Amino acid sequence: MVIYYVNRSSRSEGQHEVHTSSCPDLPEGEETEILGSYSSVQEALKEALYGYERVVKCKWCCEDLA
Ligand SMILES: [Zn+2]
Repeated sequence: MVIYYVNRSSRSEGQHEVHTSSCPDLPEGEETEILGSYSSVQEALKEALYGYERVVKCKWCCEDLA
C-alpha cells in the first residue's frame, strides 16, 4: 500500500495534483492533504475527487503507477 496526498492549492487550470508520500515534488505541511493508503493510484484519485473537482496524477511520482 502506498500513502497518497493531494495538493490543497491547484497548479494550472484548477487541477490538484495527487502525490505519493515519496514524491520529490511533494509540497510540505499545510500545502497537502493526506488521502490515505491505497493499492492503486486510481483509488486515490477517486478519493481526491470527493474534495476537489479536478485532480491529476503527479508526473513525477504517479505517472508510471496503475
Ligand atoms: Zn508527485
